[in-house]
Amino acid sequence: MKKRVRRQPQRTCIACRRIDSKRALVRLVRTPEGEVLIDLTGKRAGRGAYLCTNPRCWLTALEDGRIGRALKAELSTEERAHIRAYALELEKATAQETNDQESRPEHEPSERKSE
Ligand SMILES: [Zn+2]
Repeated sequence: MKKRVRRQPQRTCIACRRIDSKRALVRLVRTPEGEVLIDLTGKRAGRGAYLCTNPRCWLTALEDGRIGRALKAELSTEERAHIRAYALELEKATAQETNDQESRPEHEPSERKSE
């Protein structure tokens, strides 16, 4: 059962466990200096953890300490505030989207088999 398939790198959201391509998730990183940052480039050195763009995931992961655990870091008040602010930004962005299309069914895009 071990097939090596070359694909987009996939990552898992640490909150909802959704698997998506690396680009669709946002990376958090603990830098070698021990700072926890939101790494929008995905390229910073350090231990990383991924969250999807659902603001709930951010808040959940922040509140239950999952971010700290995933990164093996303790988040400072400032870092927590920063992450929370980012979650609120995401929330705003999602709110705008859902205004356009009131209820978008959450089914999986099935474009994987396209050859
Ligand atoms: Zn998620």
